[in-house]
Amino acid sequence: RVHLVQNQWINAAGVRSRCYSVNAPTTKLFINGQFVESKATEWIDLHNPATNEVVTRVPKSTQTEMEDAVAAAKDAFKSWSKTSILTRQQLMFKFQNVIKANMKELAKNITLEQGKTLMDAEGDVLRGLQVVEHCCSVTSLQLGETLPGIAKDMDTHSYKIPLGVCAGITPFNFPAMIPLWMFPMALVCGNTYVIKPSERDPGACMMLVEMLQDCGAPKGVVNVIHGSHDSVNFICDNPDIRAISFVGSDQAGKYIYERGSKHGKRVQCNMGAKNHGVIMPDANKENTLNQLVGAAFGAAGQRCMALTTAVFVGDAKKWIPDLIDRAQKLKVNAGHEPDADLGPVISPQSKQRILDLVESGKQQGAKILLDGRDVKVPGYEKGNFVGPTILADVKPSMTCYTEEIFGPVLVTMEVDTMDDAVNLINSNPYGNGTAIFTTNGATARKFTQDIDVGQVGVNVPIPVPLPMFSFTGSRGSFMGDTNFYGKAGVNFYTQTKTVTQMWREQDATDTKAAVSMPV
Ligand code: NAD
Repeated sequence: RVHLVQNQWINAAGVRSRCYSVNAPTTKLFINGQFVESKATEWIDLHNPATNEVVTRVPKSTQTEMEDAVAAAKDAFKSWSKTSILTRQQLMFKFQNVIKANMKELAKNITLEQGKTLMDAEGDVLRGLQVVEHCCSVTSLQLGETLPGIAKDMDTHSYKIPLGVCAGITPFNFPAMIPLWMFPMALVCGNTYVIKPSERDPGACMMLVEMLQDCGAPKGVVNVIHGSHDSVNFICDNPDIRAISFVGSDQAGKYIYERGSKHGKRVQCNMGAKNHGVIMPDANKENTLNQLVGAAFGAAGQRCMALTTAVFVGDAKKWIPDLIDRAQKLKVNAGHEPDADLGPVISPQSKQRILDLVESGKQQGAKILLDGRDVKVPGYEKGNFVGPTILADVKPSMTCYTEEIFGPVLVTMEVDTMDDAVNLINSNPYGNGTAIFTTNGATARKFTQDIDVGQVGVNVPIPVPLPMFSFTGSRGSFMGDTNFYGKAGVNFYTQTKTVTQMWREQDATDTKAAVSMPV
């Protein structure tokens, strides 16, 4: 079964399986256990970012198709929510096994549709796989609480029960990891799901639901619809959808939070970021510079936890020339080429936006110390490539600092003390991630205490917690009150029911009705 799906996905025309059409390169819907060709009248061309050739066309699902997906999930909930927790756990055991066996196939699809390097794409899968592995411990995670004897002959139990139909809306930058943050946790808790992957790279999500079905998931427990704004509005408004998980930009996140909440749904939104790395002069220079370069330029800077702002404290600024040396050695190439350190950015529009932000920095007084705007990649002249770029003398008012660039651009700033760095970071509206590089424990401790950011690294440039914890971005990077995955993820996808029961011996009978509150 593990190998069933292998080799079906790649052929000369691109990536195909049951989730792609055989005759025309279109991405299918997945409704009630069937891969369905959409009857959409509008389609979105999906381009390989390294060549800009069309890989597949993604439908803007029709209203009927979206309604069918929710109806299938609603119907499946009746039996899925009543399956034993061990059955749901077994599904996750099988699923993690199949994902592991097909990691390279998934990575190839990610590189084709999203552009990142193959090795990085495997990391994308791995970080999602870890959430599936964590879901296998649902038998502990979903335990409720119990307190016997809260009054005479009376006990209270609390249960974490599923919500019903839940929905996910995902961004382009982690096509496997982010869907895997969402539907496995929802499903293992007994919910059913409708997911709308990014219209820019839905392939990995399609492969994942196909794998889940091969593992024995009943029809209707997970459904995939495609599209952009209309499908998002549908999810926000549909009365049968109880909760929405969103990951993506600020603009979409704020909109979805407001519109979904207005319709009484539980909503969690992980949004944009501006992550600062603070470099103390006592840091280990070699390690710090390597980590900065990896965290700023890896995945062409298209990570919400990319370290995009380097804040040099005091004499640490003398290391900037060495930083440039390392950054310019990185190889820009198509993601499937073995020597690629960073691949293209997602689209020509995204590339243009990055170039404009770099230019705005220059116009507003920053210095371009490394300029990757004209990078040439032989054999891939039509790709959306931007080489590593470093801006210096950046000030907090500049647009290249206030905006999330989401490209391979590192802005550097200089301050005198760690307290200055903390003030700078705490004044920034975002709170996704930050890191300090130092060899002094007291400095590190003070930083972790004073900083108002949800995920902090000490000599760790991208401090994304493993799934036994939760992804805890804060302030402008998050809306909602329950984070993704880990214990918080279980709380998001369950509601608490408390049952208080009294069982008396048969001869203990009340003689009179109790009309006042018990005291
Ligand atoms: P995006 O907001 O453009 O798209 C995300 C999803 O929202 C897509 O499915 C898209 O169809 C939908 N969408 C887009 N614009 C919309 C709108 N105006 N109204 C309603 N729906 C809309 O995001 P993206 O460009 O795909 O992803 C990059 C962004 O995601 C970055 O800002 C990045 O920081 C953020 N991100 C955050 C995290 C995190 O955990 N904080 C993780 C990954 C990515």
